[in-house]
Parts: sequence; C-alpha cells; structure tokens
Amino acid sequence: MTAPPPRKPAEHVERALCVLAHPDDVDFGSAGTVATWTAAGTQVTYCIVTDGDAGGFDETPRERMGPLRREEQRAAAAAVGVTDVRFLGHPDGRLELTLDLRRDISRVIRQVRPQRVLTSSPERWYERIGASHPDHMTVGESTLRAVYPDARNPFAFPELLADEGLDAWTVGEVWLGASPRADHAVDVTDVVELKFAALKSHVTQVSHVDDLEEFVTGWMAQTARRFGLPEGHLAEAFHVVHTA
Ligand SMILES: [Zn+2]
Repeated sequence: MTAPPPRKPAEHVERALCVLAHPDDVDFGSAGTVATWTAAGTQVTYCIVTDGDAGGFDETPRERMGPLRREEQRAAAAAVGVTDVRFLGHPDGRLELTLDLRRDISRVIRQVRPQRVLTSSPERWYERIGASHPDHMTVGESTLRAVYPDARNPFAFPELLADEGLDAWTVGEVWLGASPRADHAVDVTDVVELKFAALKSHVTQVSHVDDLEEFVTGWMAQTARRFGLPEGHLAEAFHVVHTA
C-alpha cells in the first residue's frame, strides 16, 4: 500500500496568526509567504513571544534593545502588509515550555480566531542547527499545544472564558517553518523585494551584514530547487499540519 498524497492546505483563509520567538524570525523564514497572503486579502497578525533583548551585535544598551526591536518588527510587518503586531514580553533566550506560555498563546488564538497558524518547528533540524534555536523549538511546541488542545477546549484555562470572555477556537492548519519534514513550498519570487524590505527593517540585527540579500536568496533558491520549481524561482517551505 502506498501512502496517500499529502493533504493540501486551504486555498485561502480569512485570518492567519504567526507565532514566533524573536523579532525577525518571521521575516527570515516566512515574510515572502506572508506577503502572498496579505496580497490575497488574508488578515495576518504577528504574535512575537520575546522582545529579542538578548540579540544584537553592538554597544546598544541592553534596556534599549527590547523597545528598538519592537519598533523594527512593526516596520518589517508593515512592509508585507501586516499592521496587527502583538508582543508577549517573555524573556529572550530563556523560554521554557510552561503552562503560562501555553495560556498566553491560547489567549491570542482565541482573540484572533485564525483558520491558519504559522510557527517554528518544535523539532530539531540537525542539518541546519542554526534554525533550531531552543526558543524557536519551545515556541513551536507551545503553539502546537495551544492549538491542540488548549484553545479549542473551553475547560482549558477556564479564566480565559470566565474573565476575558474568550470563547474556544479551533485552528484548521498549522504551518511549521524550518522543519526537517517540509512538504509544502510557497513561490515567493514575485514578492522577494518586500521580504528584503522587511528584513532590512531589523537594523539592530542585519545592518552589519553586507551579503544579506545574497545568502537569503541562496536559501530560497535551494528550497525552490528541492521542490522542483523552475530555475530562477525562489521559495519558502513549511510542514503543514492539519489540526481541525
Ligand atoms: Zn530567533
């Protein structure tokens, strides 16, 4: 018996929520995909779990880094058509898989009521160790736990309903970025300039990187080849998990 072909993601969704650990995570791996969604009329919300206050490369005072990175993420979001950016303010570099984090993500899922959630893979990718930052894996696992079962179960975190009036919500699909088992590629060739604009908004992170466009283009070209797109095309890839 052969395995059934993978189920395709929905053609179009009304609302999508991207949950990532640090400012800039969504832009390196997924800003092109987000640009295609907003262009098609999908309302996209970003939920960034930390302020990225352990990042940077220069003498910027540490207490300035968090506010700066929030501003950079808002600008990067605007470059790809996203105006709703929410920050959870958890500590950068020290994320743990806790019930508090699951509740905080469940709250945003119930507020936004997205049909689609994008997050990072909870699974370590041994061939690309830099993609598997512990905070990324923690956010991926916490988000999947929030999608199933917390956000859909009215008896999970009952205070969300009792105190905040947030009804249970079932997310239809979760897109995992930087996954060793990616099974779906998005052609981002036509929106690549928007992705570069988003990336360059993260001044504290990338202003010292001269070949940013070259190396990000290199990844996307390699991904496009792996998924059999025509030569010269660029792609971002995801493992799509059906969660309804
Ligand atoms: Zn990160």
